[in-house]
Amino acid sequence: MDDLTQQFRAHAREKGADLIGIAPIERFDELAADKHPAAIFPETRSVIVIGKRVVRGAIRGVEEGTSFDIYDMYGRNWLSNRNLAMTTFKAGEFLEDNGWEAVPLPNIPPQTPPMGVPVREGQPAPNVMLDMDDAAIRAGLGEIGYCGLFLSPQFGPRQRFQMILTDAVLTPDPILSQPVCPTCREHAAFCILGAIDPSAERTVTVCGKDMGVAGIDHAKCKSCKNGASPNAMHPSGHADRMAAVCTRSCIAYLEESNAIENTFQNPFRKRAPWGIIQEQKVL
Ligand code: SF4
Repeated sequence: MDDLTQQFRAHAREKGADLIGIAPIERFDELAADKHPAAIFPETRSVIVIGKRVVRGAIRGVEEGTSFDIYDMYGRNWLSNRNLAMTTFKAGEFLEDNGWEAVPLPNIPPQTPPMGVPVREGQPAPNVMLDMDDAAIRAGLGEIGYCGLFLSPQFGPRQRFQMILTDAVLTPDPILSQPVCPTCREHAAFCILGAIDPSAERTVTVCGKDMGVAGIDHAKCKSCKNGASPNAMHPSGHADRMAAVCTRSCIAYLEESNAIENTFQNPFRKRAPWGIIQEQKVL
């Protein structure tokens, strides 16, 4: 690893990054122009994905069904918009202190439609939205699991990401080759509303990495009252499933299976999960 990458990684960790993945821009070659990092910063040479864990305790109140605001603050809004954003700022400042431009990007959902017209012929319409989970796979941080959740070997589904595009050439991380959860396919039952559909399974391929993903009925997730939240960044985005019963069951399973590195003295799931099954109005 070169000195700049080593120093950058140490700095980002010191500023709070739990996960750091680096992809060379060539790993994005297969993407269309309106999904490509170069649409935002044409001189991009490296794409950096920075992750912070959702502390397990932030989900405790949802797991018990007694407090949802704690998660909303510590697991969603404050985590993304304050804590992780500051880590991204500081990591970017390090690169700029060393003479390299650093474009910070939040996790705006890729479902968000364009909001303008191209300013030059042949250029995509603003705003170009990059797919954060896709970039995290290209940066070697993990995989899309069968339930459609991003899984890292460190925290399973329990992290949030932001991105930095830079013209610095940094030492890349390898794409993760081993599956985080080899038995993901057994877990459609994690959704008590039937939104995880094994009959609609498809293969998602990113940089040659094949991942089997069940069909997900995102409309059901938008009306799910089992811990799911509206997308915090844009109403067109998929629901935030981080604290939903599907993700909480995934966390419990990965911990029981010793499949992730961040372990605890006591199990996450101590009581049978609660669930609300009746039809709900779409948010
Ligand atoms: S968010 Fe709700 S509806 Fe969607 S997969 Fe999870 S439990 Fe099922």
